[in-house]
Amino acid sequence: MPQTPHHILRSVFGYEKFRLEQERAISAVLRGEDSFVLMPTGGGKSLCYQVPALCLEGLTLVVSPLIALMKDQVDALRLNGVEAAYLNSTLDEGEQRLLANRLRLGEIKILYVAPERLVTERFLSFLGTLQVALFAIDEAHCISQWGHDFRPEYRELSRVKKCFPHVPLIALTATADEQTRRDIIVQLTIPQNNVFVSSFNRANIRYFVEQKQNTYEKIVAHIRRRSGESGIIYTLSRASAESLADRLQTDGFSALPYHAGLERATRTRHQDLFLRDEVQIICATIAFGMGIDKSNVRYVIHHDLPKNIESYYQETGRAGRDGLPSDAILLYSNADAMKLQKMLVIEDNPDQTRILIQKLQEMRKYAESRQCRRKYLLQYFGEDFSPSQHSCASCDICLNTASNQELFDATLSAQKFFSAMIRTGERFGAGYVIEVLRGNASKVRTEHLNLKTFGVGADTSAAEWRRIANELCTAGWCERATGDYPILKLNERSKAVLYDGAKVLLPKAEERKRSARRETEREREIAPLPTFAAKEAGSSIPHHAKLFERLRLLRRSIAESEGVPPFMVLSDATLMELASSLPFSLQEIRRVTGFGEVKTQRYGARFIKEIQDFVAAHPLLAQKTSSQKASLPPKGEQSRNTVASSHKNRSNADSSSWQGLSDTVQETLRLWQAGNTVETIASLRKVTHSTILGHLVMCVGAKKIPLHAIVSEEKEEAIIDALREHEWREGQGLKPIKEALGEGFDYAEIRAVIAAYPQ
Ligand code: ADP
Ligand code: ZN
Repeated sequence: MPQTPHHILRSVFGYEKFRLEQERAISAVLRGEDSFVLMPTGGGKSLCYQVPALCLEGLTLVVSPLIALMKDQVDALRLNGVEAAYLNSTLDEGEQRLLANRLRLGEIKILYVAPERLVTERFLSFLGTLQVALFAIDEAHCISQWGHDFRPEYRELSRVKKCFPHVPLIALTATADEQTRRDIIVQLTIPQNNVFVSSFNRANIRYFVEQKQNTYEKIVAHIRRRSGESGIIYTLSRASAESLADRLQTDGFSALPYHAGLERATRTRHQDLFLRDEVQIICATIAFGMGIDKSNVRYVIHHDLPKNIESYYQETGRAGRDGLPSDAILLYSNADAMKLQKMLVIEDNPDQTRILIQKLQEMRKYAESRQCRRKYLLQYFGEDFSPSQHSCASCDICLNTASNQELFDATLSAQKFFSAMIRTGERFGAGYVIEVLRGNASKVRTEHLNLKTFGVGADTSAAEWRRIANELCTAGWCERATGDYPILKLNERSKAVLYDGAKVLLPKAEERKRSARRETEREREIAPLPTFAAKEAGSSIPHHAKLFERLRLLRRSIAESEGVPPFMVLSDATLMELASSLPFSLQEIRRVTGFGEVKTQRYGARFIKEIQDFVAAHPLLAQKTSSQKASLPPKGEQSRNTVASSHKNRSNADSSSWQGLSDTVQETLRLWQAGNTVETIASLRKVTHSTILGHLVMCVGAKKIPLHAIVSEEKEEAIIDALREHEWREGQGLKPIKEALGEGFDYAEIRAVIAAYPQ
């Protein structure tokens, strides 16, 4: 009997609820209609065709241009007990024949195939002999020449529809601007009401743009903050991928290069070591990552400017697929932009060149913009994002603005600057305009010596003028031309300043300097919860860290015997949930996100044994567990009520889960969940440090944040011992406890422990 999508979701994939537009897309397929799904990387596109594939009779074909992706997807499906296979150039003839036989016998439910293979006459007529249930076209943006990754072989795919007019088709992509979207829809004749666009917001990713100076030091600082965790560093050239990896290795970091110039075997080895968590950092060109869905990548650093927002968003989207907090850092320089611009020129194709350069301009604007990064990115993808209180609280701009950057009235300077631009014919860059303003006769052309603006800015230093020029450009008061030289041009806004008295406000220099000095402080802000005793940076599910480590080891040994990367066996988020909810039976483990029927049967008992052994060796934990376990709710409930769910809420911002906390506490929680430190939250909200701590203690009580984010395990044990010794009861003062514990403890920590163990 065919099964319902919900049933498949639960029993095969171990998930409780559909995400984003998954359910609507699946319904369209099951109605036999064509559809188009646009979802951010990590959103869950695969399930949009994998679930219906298992509901329908017959074979689902998945078209994908990426061989690596095929293998991963097939491995992941097999681990969940789904019969899947791929057909591409890596199979020899014997293997292909064997596969053809299995297809004829109807033994395969999902087949991944490269587009050029699918559209051959031979293959299409072979398909004609089978029962085909569904065509899924992954990376569908490759069909459009407006996209950033046009592949001519994708054009042929519309033939499939002619050959199989009654088989539904689902096209999916994570990246498509408005024009590309329209193109896909038109070419594949998808009905408008089956276009499913999900929000592109990746709430668990924080965005930072930094100037490309002291680049290596900046990278190292970041790696240190995320020590022991996985990260990708993208570089533009193969040479810099190599040299960066070398340098990091020399400095004792676990890093390897990856680019298309390496021998295939080396490339594969490096990739595997990264996937298996045996190497932490990959320094790579964009050749890396297509089809890598390692779920625990905690940061993506762009050492060089990407060519367009689409690529940038896709690459940064590789961070935090498991929904845990992660960082995207772009190191920007104007020189990079100029270099790229030259590289983008395609000979004899001015149209394509124009599109590519326009896309680069958008990327550049992103880096130079002073508005919320998240808002810019989402607007680029056609989405209106209005962060609450004008701050997403998780990008460099919002964090800086929040610290009250002071502005000054720069109208007069701007007028001087713009008139010098006009009088020199808008043919020069900022450097020259500044020489004119400063009255530097030795650097200025003779014909400019008599200009009215010559020397009118001599009272301001060249450095300050540079800063002003930069601010004017980044804030959009004037433009940088797109040609070979960084020439400045006036725009409507500059004219409004010159002729209509428009007022220009720019950040004060002192403030900027202060923020530079605060670099180290800000670095601490970037690191999640550094002032708290967080066991692992970025960990947001309350869990027992030592147990988590043991579960990781167990997962690794299972992964080795299965010949797959560990994250494919179970995600980090699932392990955290295990180390938090401590299931003791198969029935309980089945409720943990990510445990479908097959994984429960195959691995459940081993995880339970590990957990039981651990709990037996930690009696305190057992005590805590028994109170929790007394009313362990089913999976759906759990995601609303127990500590194990807070990571989901971090990304989903499920407001229903915040019931019982006052607005002000909820606001603190929201900022905390966005990865801010107590100090930052206190300064954003203009209240004291201890008020914020008080809020967080309440959040611990409401099981919204982990106790171990505020109190280390060692301290937790000491506090419990002290409470027991004093036979402390609700309503009694905490002073004797505090005194017994001594200097290293504070009241908030004691309160947090009490809140975590309700009497
Ligand atoms: P995409 O292809 O859109 O980048 P994937 O299909 O690889 O994303 O999904 C990203 C991750 O999210 C995978 O680990 C997947 O198993 C998980 N996932 C997808 N849908 C759900 C869901 N409804 N509930 C929980 N996890 C999900
Ligand atoms: Zn922001």
